[in-house]
Amino acid sequence: LASSSVNNTPAPATSTGEGDQGDEDKAISKEDESILRKILRSKLVTTKADLEVLRKDPNSPLFSVKSFEALNLKKELLKGLYDMGFNAPSKIQETALPSLLADPPCNMIAQSQSGTGKTAAFVLTMLSRVDASKHYPQCLCLAPTYELAIQIGHVTEQMAKHMTELHIKYAVKGNRIERGQKISEQIIIGTPGTLMDWAMKYKFFDLRKIKVFVLDEADVMIATQGHQDQSLRIQKGLSQNCQMLLFSATYDADVIEFAQAVIPNDPVTIRLRREEESLDNIRQYYIECDNIEDKFKALSNIYGTISIGQSMVFCHTRKNAAWLAEKMIKDGHVVGLLSGDLQIEQRAAIIKRFRDGKEKVLITTNVSARGIDVEMVTVVVNFDLPVTPNGKPDCETYLHRIGRTGRFGKSGIAINFVDGERSRNNLRYIEKHFGRNITKLDAEDMDEIE
Ligand code: ADP
Repeated sequence: LASSSVNNTPAPATSTGEGDQGDEDKAISKEDESILRKILRSKLVTTKADLEVLRKDPNSPLFSVKSFEALNLKKELLKGLYDMGFNAPSKIQETALPSLLADPPCNMIAQSQSGTGKTAAFVLTMLSRVDASKHYPQCLCLAPTYELAIQIGHVTEQMAKHMTELHIKYAVKGNRIERGQKISEQIIIGTPGTLMDWAMKYKFFDLRKIKVFVLDEADVMIATQGHQDQSLRIQKGLSQNCQMLLFSATYDADVIEFAQAVIPNDPVTIRLRREEESLDNIRQYYIECDNIEDKFKALSNIYGTISIGQSMVFCHTRKNAAWLAEKMIKDGHVVGLLSGDLQIEQRAAIIKRFRDGKEKVLITTNVSARGIDVEMVTVVVNFDLPVTPNGKPDCETYLHRIGRTGRFGKSGIAINFVDGERSRNNLRYIEKHFGRNITKLDAEDMDEIE
C-alpha cells in the first residue's frame, strides 16, 4: 500500500503536538500503576544496586542468608516456596528475612522498587509467625486498594498451600460480616477504612492479639485521602510487642514521615536504591521534518528498520497517538496503540501482546507508558520530544524513555523527530544537557543505523 493513498485522515489541529496540554492523557493513578505492574510482572527484578541498612545499633552483626534452608522455616512453608519456584532469596530478602524472622521480632521499614521481592518477604514473615491451630486473627496486612489486597492474598494462598489449617479473610468494601460475629481466620488482608471499622467499630477481632502488622505500598497508600489517619488509628490499637512492618517502592519525604509515625521503636530500615538510568550504549539520532504529516511519512519510511526489534513511539497527546496509529495501520503497518482511556485489563492485554511480539511497534503517550518496563525495547522514537507542562524540554522524561539501567550488554537506539524551530532548540538543549551527540539521520536512507 502506497502511503499517498491513505492520507485522508486529517492531522490533529495542533500540528507539532508540543506544548498543548488540552488532551494530555489523564495521569494513571498510583493504585492503577501499581496493579498494572503486578499483573504484568512475571519474574523477580534483579539489580546491581547496593543495599543500605540503617539500624539502632550499627555494631550489632547483621545476618544475611543465601538460602531459604538457613532460615529454619516450617517444613510446609519451605515446600510452598519451592512449589512457587523460589530457589534462593532475592537481594532484599537475603538481608530482610533474618531480621524479619528473628526473636524477639524487630520492626522494619523496607524500600525497594516494585518486583524485588517485598511481598514474598512479608507474606513469609506472617506465615512463619502465625499459629494455624488457633482460630482468631494473628496477622494484619493493610493494602491501598481492593485489587492490591486480593493480589497479596493470592501470594499468601500459594505460599501457604501446604498449611491446610490456614485461612485468609479479606477486609474490603462489600465483604460483610454480621454484627456480633467474630472472625476466625488467622490472617486479615484489607484496606484501612474497612479494617478500622472491623476492628474498632464492630470489634470483629481483637487488635491486641495481632502478632504481625504489615503496611504495604506506603507510597500508594498516602496518595489516598484518609488512609494515613486510618492506618495510624489501627496501629495505635496494637499491642506493644506486635511486630510492625512497612514496605514502599519509593521513599521521599512524605513517605519517610508517615513510615516513621506508623512504625515506632527504632525500626531497622532497609533501602535498595534504584539503579540510575544512563544513556551509555544508546545511539541517538534525529530526523528533520516539516510538519506532523511529514513526521508520519518519516515513521512509515523507517518502519522496516524499527520493527526488526521492538520499538516504542512516544507522542505528546492521546489525540496525536490515536491519529498516528490509525495512519500507520491504513498504511499497512502493524502497530499497537496504548492509550490512557483504557481499563487496566485492556492496557495489560496490549502490553502483553507487545511483549509477545504480536506487534513490534507500540505507539503511546508518556503517561500511558507509565508502569511498563521497557527492557526489551531496542528502539525508542520520540515522535514528539518530551516537554514539561510549561513547554520546556523535559530531560528527565527523555532519560526515562530511552535510558537503561545496568551497563552491560544492553544497547539501544533513540530517534527524535523535530519539526520547526522550537523542537530543534529543545533537541539541542537535551543534547547539551546530557553531553552526548545526537546525529542527523535521513529517513530515506537508514543504512547508517542498520
Ligand atoms: P514486590 O513486592 O517488591 O513488588 P514480589 O514479592 O511481588 O515483589 O516479587 C516479584 C516477583 O518475583 C513475583 O513474581 C514473585 O513471585 C517473584 N519472587 C519473589 N521472591 C522470589 C524469589 N526469592 N525467587 C524467585 N522469584 C521470586
